[in-house]
Amino acid sequence: MLNIVLFGPPGAGKGTVAKKVAQQENLVHLSTGDMLREEIERGSALGKEAGQLIAQGHLVPDEVVIAMVREFVKRAMPCNGFIFDGFPRTTEQAKELDAIMATQGTAITMMIALEVSEDEIIRRMLNRAAIEGRPDDTISVIRKRIATYHEKIKTTGDYYKLQNKYYTVDSSFTPENTLQQILLIVKR
Ligand code: AMP
Repeated sequence: MLNIVLFGPPGAGKGTVAKKVAQQENLVHLSTGDMLREEIERGSALGKEAGQLIAQGHLVPDEVVIAMVREFVKRAMPCNGFIFDGFPRTTEQAKELDAIMATQGTAITMMIALEVSEDEIIRRMLNRAAIEGRPDDTISVIRKRIATYHEKIKTTGDYYKLQNKYYTVDSSFTPENTLQQILLIVKR
C-alpha cells in the first residue's frame, strides 16, 4: 500500500492537491477538516464542540480526530492506500496513526510537507474566504491558525524526519506544479 501524509500550513493547498493525488494514484482521500465540517453541518454534539474550536483557530482534541480516523480507515479497507490531508497534526496523532496502520498490516510510507510563504498564505486564504465563506478564513483567525501551525503542528514533521520519511515540496506556484512535484517523489 502507498500511504501518504500530506502536511503544510493552512492555505498551502493541501485539500486541492490531496484530491488530485488520490485520483492519480487510486488512493482513498481522508480530510479531518472536511469530516469535522460535515459534523458541524449535521449539527451533531461533536460538531458543536468542534465548531467553536475551529472558529477560533484552535485544534480539536486529539482523541476526537483519532477516533474519527480509526473508524474511517477500518471502513475504507481493503484499498490501495490512503492520502491523509490535515492529519496528523500532533505527535500524539502521528503515533496513533502508526498504530491504526499497523492493525491493518500496513504503515505510513512518507510525509510530504508543502511549503509556502506567510504572505502568500494570507493572500490565498482571504481569496478563499471571498469565494467559499469559510468562517475560519477571517484575517484574525487565519493569523491564529498560522500561529497554531508554528507552535504545535510543525513539530509533527520531526516525527517523520526521524524515520527518514519526510519530503518537502514548494507549493508557491500553481496546484498543477505542486501535484507534479509530489508525483515525482511518489514515483521515486
Ligand atoms: P483544515 O480544513 O485541515 O484546515 O482544518 C480546519 C480546522 O479543523 C483546523 O484549523 C482545526 O481546527 C480542525 N482540524 C482539522 N484536522 C485536525 C486535526 N488533525 N487535529 C486537530 N484539529 C483538526
